[in-house]
Amino acid sequence: MLNEVTISQAIITTYMNKLMDVLELDVAIAGAGPSGLVAGYYLAHAGKKVALFDKKLSIGGGIWGGGMMFNEIVVQDEGKEVLDELGIPAKPFTKGYYTLDSVDAAASLVYTSIRAGLRIFNLINVEDIVYKSDRVCGLVINWSTVEMTGLHVDPLTLHSSFVLDATGHPANITQALVRKMGVKLGTPTGSIMGERSMDANLGERHTVENTREVYPGLFVSGMAANAVYGGYRMGAVFGGMFLSGKKAAHEIIGKLS
Ligand SMILES: Cc1cc2nc3c(=O)[nH]c(=O)nc-3n(C[C@H](O)[C@H](O)[C@H](O)COP(=O)(O)OP(=O)(O)OC[C@H]3O[C@@H](n4cnc5c(N)ncnc54)[C@H](O)[C@@H]3O)c2cc1C
Repeated sequence: MLNEVTISQAIITTYMNKLMDVLELDVAIAGAGPSGLVAGYYLAHAGKKVALFDKKLSIGGGIWGGGMMFNEIVVQDEGKEVLDELGIPAKPFTKGYYTLDSVDAAASLVYTSIRAGLRIFNLINVEDIVYKSDRVCGLVINWSTVEMTGLHVDPLTLHSSFVLDATGHPANITQALVRKMGVKLGTPTGSIMGERSMDANLGERHTVENTREVYPGLFVSGMAANAVYGGYRMGAVFGGMFLSGKKAAHEIIGKLS
């Protein structure tokens, strides 16, 4: 006979243990879009203690909708190489272009990164950073519902050696750093430059080039990197997002060791 109280105990106990275990991390990632998930995969695969937080119920960020809600995404040769490393199949379309069902892409990225050891927490909003001695060194988190309902509830805090802002276009973590601490970023203007219009080639290149440590302890990836450094947008070609996540992970791994 199933006991309802045992079911509740199982959920509460396992969740609390899971949460307690991520209060001190090598890397804390905000945002479970393609760049955050791929970064999480490589960091976990390298044995780093890493957890990812996303404010939404379903994770995957902007992958699900493909282009204009046609649920297919496109990757180029370089992006396909990342998919190959993760064991995610894509179909050739024409020379240098591959397609992948966007639902398959989102589900596979989540599955593969979790199997590699990434801990993912949905429904948690990253509302601020921990800042000590001129360095970003953790996240301030709260339930998304607290933010949505505007309740006056204090957040909790976790420490990490590095933070990755993978929150997409709003670059929410970097925004919080600039808004609250008034710091100068490592961008040409010293501030958040804002995303530029469409150029798929430049956009893909910029996404990877702009993936870097924008402030001590804080890396940016994906569309957040483009928003922070003023890169071009690129449409529903996702290779740059995957490559950006991979680069962020490798740069952070280099710094950790
Ligand atoms: C206006 C708009 C324009 C777009 N233009 C392009 C484009 O030009 N090219 C392109 O490839 N794609 C575009 N997209 C689609 C999509 O954003 C990207 O392709 C791709 O999904 C970006 O990947 P990412 O990894 O940077 O982050 P995203 O896929 O955007 O994922 C970011 C994740 O971060 C989470 N998040 C945000 N803030 C917080 C927080 N404070 N705490 C916790 N979680 C948080 C979100 O819930 C989301 O799941 C666009 C989307 C929008 C909305």
